[in-house]
Amino acid sequence: MAVMTFSARPLLNRRLAEFGTTIFAEMSALALSTGSINLGQGFPDTDGPREIRDAAARALTEGRGNQYPPGLGVPELRTAVAAHQQRRYGLSYDPDTEVLVTAGATEAVAAALLALVEPGDEVVAFEPYYDSYAACIAMAGGTRVPVTLRPHEGVFRLDLDELRDAVTDHTRLLLINTPHNPTGTVLTREELTEIARLAVERDLIVVTDEVYEHLVFDGAEHLPLASFPGMRERTVSISSAGKTFSFTGWKVGWVTASPALVAAVRSAKQYLTYVASGPFQYAVAEALALPDAYFEEFRADMRAKRDLLSAGLADAGFGVFRPAGTYFVTTDIRPLGETDGFAFCRSLPERAGVVAIPNAVFYDHREEGAPFVRFAFCKRTEVLAEAVQRLRQAFAG
Ligand code: PMP
Ligand code: GLN
Repeated sequence: MAVMTFSARPLLNRRLAEFGTTIFAEMSALALSTGSINLGQGFPDTDGPREIRDAAARALTEGRGNQYPPGLGVPELRTAVAAHQQRRYGLSYDPDTEVLVTAGATEAVAAALLALVEPGDEVVAFEPYYDSYAACIAMAGGTRVPVTLRPHEGVFRLDLDELRDAVTDHTRLLLINTPHNPTGTVLTREELTEIARLAVERDLIVVTDEVYEHLVFDGAEHLPLASFPGMRERTVSISSAGKTFSFTGWKVGWVTASPALVAAVRSAKQYLTYVASGPFQYAVAEALALPDAYFEEFRADMRAKRDLLSAGLADAGFGVFRPAGTYFVTTDIRPLGETDGFAFCRSLPERAGVVAIPNAVFYDHREEGAPFVRFAFCKRTEVLAEAVQRLRQAFAG
């Protein structure tokens, strides 16, 4: 009898073939196996507020959220999200029809793209882009159209003419991210005004990932795209508790949008996870209601860490792009005589006992991103100080 052999066809389908293991998993594993300081994957090394952890524990032991929560998310969290948007930005959302709780911002992005993109539609997004964007556009059958942010006088800038030129009759949506991972760029009022004008003129949907909304520094201000003229009804705004409250493992995110857009995103979301993170949803509702002092202290703490790491990297010889937002600093390795960020990051554990992320993974035009390397500064001060000392020793002798 003939023995049936397992299919010779590649297992991973064509849409996903180009996406291997995420760089974050690869680099965190490298940090572990080499005992290096992990400034790669963006997660804090201290947990968020004690009272919010207590709130999660209380919900769990009191039996709130241990069974499937409602599909839209628990009412307490939807109300808290709506109150946050009102208090911070003067944006009104109806918690019953205009807020959707998701399994982190990751699921919100995935559900929005799967719901709104028709196969063949073009999705315009900034390059370098957060890695899940490219994979989710591919899963939705869309075509990604990158608009490259380029270094200019120490920051990565958007070229509005390039953005305008990237929009065609096949463009369905703009996928915006501000504050921007990995460059730390925060879009200005003028840039956002132009993006809004373009979206209205070309009748585009805008999906905007604002997970770093509370992490802006110096004079920069986070302005939600939904607050610009003509944007309220065409914008899917996404945020998450992971970065703002230092609970990246809880995976609580949310969408705010018009009833029609929320209904569309929910159609996809209900077949991804249906619901997630029951008890944590109650705790995040309390976190969103924390007094302004929490958000101010969090920002001040991260600003000090940004300054410490940026100064240390500059001392070690890196070119430093000072971020106006997020908790990442992008560097240029060419002043160190290096040109290949991938090779550099793979050798960094051995040379300095530190792990970082090669920005090239966030580019379609890999050569554009080759000399840039991202370091995360959401770590304890002593950890950053040790990393800086190691980098100085390795590169500045
Ligand atoms: N978008 C951006 C720009 C991010 O940096 C991240 C990582 N926090 C996410 C989305 C994913 O967020 P979450 O962990 O809430 O899924
Ligand atoms: N958002 C985090 C980063 O950019 C990583 C999240 C993840 O590992 N998927 O580093």
